[in-house]
Amino acid sequence: MQSHARVVVIGGGIGGLSALYHLCQEGWTDAVLLERNELTSGTTWHSAAQCPSVAFNQLLLLLRDYTIKLYKELADDPTYPINYHHATGGMRLLTNPTHVDEVHHILSVAKGLGIEFDLLDAAEAKRRNPLLNTDGVLAVMWDEKDGDIDPAQLCQALAARSRKAGAAIHRNTPVTALKQLPNDEWLVTTDNGTITAEHIVIAAGYRVNEVGALMGIKYPVIAMEHMYFVTEDIPELVDRPDRVPMVRCPRDTFYMRQEKKGLLVGIYEHDCKTFGMDGIDPDFVNALCLDDLDRLLPKMEPIFERLPCLQEVGIKSVVNGPISYASDAGPLVGKQPGLRNCWSMNGLRVGIGEGGGYGKMIAQMMVHGETEWDSWQLDPRRITSFANTEFTALKSIEDYQHEFRWHLPHEHRPAGRPAKTSPLYPVLKGKGAEFGVVNGWERAEFYRPSADFETTHGYTFQNWHDVVGAEVRALTTNVGLAELSGFNHYRITGTGALEWLDSLTCSRVSNKPGKASLCYYLTPKGNIAGEATIVPLPGGEVFYGSAATAEYHDMDWLTERLPEGSDIRIKSRTNTHTMLVVAGPKTRDLLASVSRCTKWGQADFPWLSAQRVFIGYVEALAIAISYSGEQAFELHIPNTQLYAAYEILANSGAEFGLSHFGMFAIDSMRLEKGYGHWKGDFITEFNPIEARLSRFVNQHKDFPGKPGLLAQKKAGNRKERVILEIHSTKGPAQPGEGVFLDGVPIGSITSASWGYRTNKNLAMAYIDPKHVAGGSELEVLLIGETVCATVCPPCLFDPENTLPRGLA
Ligand SMILES: Cc1cc2nc3c(=O)[nH]c(=O)nc-3n(C[C@H](O)[C@H](O)[C@H](O)COP(=O)(O)OP(=O)(O)OC[C@H]3O[C@@H](n4cnc5c(N)ncnc54)[C@H](O)[C@@H]3O)c2cc1C
Repeated sequence: MQSHARVVVIGGGIGGLSALYHLCQEGWTDAVLLERNELTSGTTWHSAAQCPSVAFNQLLLLLRDYTIKLYKELADDPTYPINYHHATGGMRLLTNPTHVDEVHHILSVAKGLGIEFDLLDAAEAKRRNPLLNTDGVLAVMWDEKDGDIDPAQLCQALAARSRKAGAAIHRNTPVTALKQLPNDEWLVTTDNGTITAEHIVIAAGYRVNEVGALMGIKYPVIAMEHMYFVTEDIPELVDRPDRVPMVRCPRDTFYMRQEKKGLLVGIYEHDCKTFGMDGIDPDFVNALCLDDLDRLLPKMEPIFERLPCLQEVGIKSVVNGPISYASDAGPLVGKQPGLRNCWSMNGLRVGIGEGGGYGKMIAQMMVHGETEWDSWQLDPRRITSFANTEFTALKSIEDYQHEFRWHLPHEHRPAGRPAKTSPLYPVLKGKGAEFGVVNGWERAEFYRPSADFETTHGYTFQNWHDVVGAEVRALTTNVGLAELSGFNHYRITGTGALEWLDSLTCSRVSNKPGKASLCYYLTPKGNIAGEATIVPLPGGEVFYGSAATAEYHDMDWLTERLPEGSDIRIKSRTNTHTMLVVAGPKTRDLLASVSRCTKWGQADFPWLSAQRVFIGYVEALAIAISYSGEQAFELHIPNTQLYAAYEILANSGAEFGLSHFGMFAIDSMRLEKGYGHWKGDFITEFNPIEARLSRFVNQHKDFPGKPGLLAQKKAGNRKERVILEIHSTKGPAQPGEGVFLDGVPIGSITSASWGYRTNKNLAMAYIDPKHVAGGSELEVLLIGETVCATVCPPCLFDPENTLPRGLA
């Protein structure tokens, strides 16, 4: 075995082999794959290996689309034959109106990407798949390209191509130790020798936590047992020349595909079981768990009704194997937080159907520093330390039980909640807060108007629509208070800390103590990587604030760029401090009433400035900054004194008509202002010029990503960010949905909400630069209807910022 390699991939299932193949494609052929047993001997060999193209969001649609194209190309290559039933066709059965609404959402998302799916009625579905009983089926989503592939042959084909490109594959070579060297290389120890590698990719399937233990890491990944059975021959299939379309059913959580002349039926049973929580037998290789058809029994009746032919045939074989789940059911594909040159390809739940895309993504990240798609939904840094094994197991069980049931807009399922709470959680709960979850934190979305209010979820405007409107009205009349738990917040100290931060961002960072600057930092190609508020404070320390979800992302980004030998220190306050927002015309009066040492007038405490203040006797950092466009202050308060500060504000607030508001109100108001959201609207697929953030780009200085940005500027904008008014009161648009002109896709929506101050149905979107002129009439697909959408001015509410500047 060689002693050095640019990259070592650990694990020879679809994850590892797709990574290896794509690294070779990107030119990193000095690559080695190490597999403890035989290739595919983990989960991959016994996969049902379906490759649908339907998915719930843009990224997964694109990854599946790419995966299918890759597999087709591999299967058509005569040098390595693969059994790939490409384009058998697949059906998603829709048995309630909400299922139909969510499919309309997906049809719009897909169409916006140029991917088409059909909606069939029950009769047409029955014609295409005569095995189906379509009783109770309202409609069927038809996936033309759905199919299945032989997973072992697929992996062998990827292995053959990788070897041909120059990569080495060592079977029966378990990795037994991993050590990072001072120069950031990795020492990879195996039973057959040691390799020093610049990068490692961990793709260890259900043994990921065994490999993690070699580095002191606990991945938020567990495995679940998952079962399918294969029937004896079905008479209707024996003489059928083509394959019967595949079926997936969100109501009864099962899938079915043809296997030879019988059916393969996989079931996600309610009474499900985790696998290997207390360790995995080292000899569990090419192995299965014990059959346990009894667990499936409660699901069998409706499935047998749906597919009556199952009542007539026997079961030939049962497969019960471990399938990996991460704590939010998405895989962990990307950089491992806290470690350099260590990459993750783990938690693969749909590893065959999406595996081609994951490989391409990770190879692009490693070789070019970014992918062509914003990969945040799969980025390992999105899940932080609260997601321990117990939590991951609870969420995985819940996700398993809900397989094929997509989350409705704003739906946060109950398992593992509350995970992280501020000291105000019980207080706000007592006030009726309906909580959502951000990076594990419970955050109030709105306040239920009565104890018996039952929150609904769906694609139309829901029963909380007017409730949020009332919150906006109350705060814009008097003053409102919101809690943003988990806001990402670092205290940065050390010699030259501010200059160092300034060198990393494309924006102007003020060096005036107490002056807040909104800053962006870029990828190597000049796309948006991150967003932060930076405030130099008296005494040399710097406040760094960013989105709650950025906790690991930003820490990684900063620590990897620390100057060598510097004394700069970054201390996270994300889990020790909480942000309260006070907003509305009486904000300054309320704060003045509880904080006698500070002059809260506009002249003494202007917009975009910060001061250390006392709220009563509680010390806080106050920043005059406004996401809502109202007069507003952020108050950053230690959790130990959060309740005290809240009580002081609430007690004094009665005099000023203080009300509470939640995230939905904030989201509505920031859309009216045209403010974007990191990883919602500001993603790595666009540069700051396209995102209409040019005012935050200081062309007169050097910054990482500048050459890339200049090259992009020369090439012209791919898309541009706009605000759209949607001419419908039926429901809000949803992120990812397409924007069209005469039915032709010209962009997609990134976020949307009703604007209560402007009384408009609003969305933020990136569209073709040719159509960004104000007043341009475009179309969106809203719950199955084509609706007119007009391009609006970039800021619809108080464009001169007279409210936060105290001029109104
Ligand atoms: C019953 C069932 C049905 C499924 N059906 C589908 C489906 O229809 N469509 C779909 O897309 N997905 C399906 N899946 C999921 C899919 O099969 C998996 O997502 C995929 O196979 C996982 O691949 P992997 O490479 O991550 O893991 P694995 O295939 O488990 O590969 C990991 C490899 O790492 C190796 N390894 C571990 N530790 C070490 C070490 N220390 N040193 C070296 N090597 C090591 C292991 O030996 C193993 O070969 C199904 C899963 C199951 C269980």
